[in-house]
Amino acid sequence: MSQPLRIAVIGGGWAGIAAAVTSCQQGAQVTLIEMAGQLGGRARSLATGEAAPFAQLDNGQHILIGAYSQSLALMQSLGVDLAQAFLRTPLRLRYPRHEGLQLPAGAPLISFARGVLAYSNWPLLARLRLLAAAGGWLLRGFHCPPAWTVQTLCAGLPPCVKQDLIEPLCVAALNTPASHASAQTFLRVLHDALFSGPGSADLLLPRLSLSELLATPAQRWLQAHGVKLHLGQRVQQLSRSDKVWLVDGQAFDQLILACSPVEAARLCAEIQSSWAAQAAQLRYEPIITVYLHSPGSRLPAPMVALQEGPNAPAQFVFDLGQLSLQDERSGAFAFVISGAAAWVDKGLGATGEQVLAQALREFDWHSPPQVQRVLAEKRATFACTPGQQRPPREIAAGLQAAGDYVQGPYPATLEGAVRAGMAAARHALKKVG
Ligand SMILES: Cc1cc2nc3c(=O)[nH]c(=O)nc-3n(C[C@H](O)[C@H](O)[C@H](O)COP(=O)(O)OP(=O)(O)OC[C@H]3O[C@@H](n4cnc5c(N)ncnc54)[C@H](O)[C@@H]3O)c2cc1C
Repeated sequence: MSQPLRIAVIGGGWAGIAAAVTSCQQGAQVTLIEMAGQLGGRARSLATGEAAPFAQLDNGQHILIGAYSQSLALMQSLGVDLAQAFLRTPLRLRYPRHEGLQLPAGAPLISFARGVLAYSNWPLLARLRLLAAAGGWLLRGFHCPPAWTVQTLCAGLPPCVKQDLIEPLCVAALNTPASHASAQTFLRVLHDALFSGPGSADLLLPRLSLSELLATPAQRWLQAHGVKLHLGQRVQQLSRSDKVWLVDGQAFDQLILACSPVEAARLCAEIQSSWAAQAAQLRYEPIITVYLHSPGSRLPAPMVALQEGPNAPAQFVFDLGQLSLQDERSGAFAFVISGAAAWVDKGLGATGEQVLAQALREFDWHSPPQVQRVLAEKRATFACTPGQQRPPREIAAGLQAAGDYVQGPYPATLEGAVRAGMAAARHALKKVG
């Protein structure tokens, strides 16, 4: 009888989890090595040691859309009840004092057209120009010159459409301002939201913590299926010997590098220097999350879009009390600043104060809000710019990369990470099978 393939997955974020689960489902003998003390990577929860509602905080608020089919399928295969895990609604952009664009339920393309036509805050001409532009994107197969930014793509649209729709969607999906963001990647997200079947443009807001969404059920599943899990272990060195790969001296048939591109570049520097150089040159965009506390307060919707500006850092705020299944999160609010490089430069204390001032201007609070925590992830995502060269999945025979940054159509998202992890696992098994 042939021995099962020995696969090591290095890194236990969403890409590494997807790679480990897929490899295990296909009969491989899997070892997963994660540097941190827990799985989840950038999409993890942190125990704070503080009292409710801040006893546990997500590393940053995450949202999914209905088109994220592989992430949803992965969660489901690990036993997560999706109906309970997410508040799922058709796309709705609610602002503090008025409703923004809202799509009715139904087939995404038709509901997009109906939602735009019905949105009377924009002059009729502006609505028609957006529909005409969207029709043009459709006719061109959602392709555009690779050098275009989202700003170039949308140059002909009226300012109200850019400000109320394009800019917030772009920064939320690509974590890169429209002036720098890749139009081709933006069009791909729009395409998948409008053409991946019913509900693909829906917003899915997590009701559970990020760890409950994936890391905790994945850890249970992997252990129950015999995967060797090493937490708190940073891989130091990879090498090739005879027909096997050595991970800090331990032999494997195939490796999947699901760690950050910086770490992947370090580990591969002597194995495949051109790949390592490509991974090392990636540029990043930060995200800052400011958690405010205001007992007894409630926002007009679980997710509210905000108008950003020189004194208004945040683009979205989430009412965690409305989202959570437990009352104990009531009074907790997460303000999100995507594409936050300028605010990182100003300092986290100053940014927290500006968000507090923005919150006081935008909403009526039941009790005076206070800044509870400011979390900054400096390398939240790669900068999704037109010129960005992303490294390919295959590094060398038997050595692959998986992560939200490897070549692919998506921006840095949970879905991009999961798809990359699954693809690497399938490829590893196909090569040998
Ligand atoms: C604040 C914030 C908000 C976000 N919002 C959204 C959102 O709304 N929607 C969305 O889809 N995406 C969002 N993202 C992006 C999303 O979190 C990432 O795309 C996804 O988590 C990337 O997963 P990954 O597995 O590719 O990488 P990572 O999560 O970075 O995983 C890499 C793992 O490798 C481990 N590792 C590194 N080096 C080693 C080593 N030498 N040995 C062992 N282990 C190692 C790390 O500890 C880490 O756990 C957001 C990200 C942030 C930070």
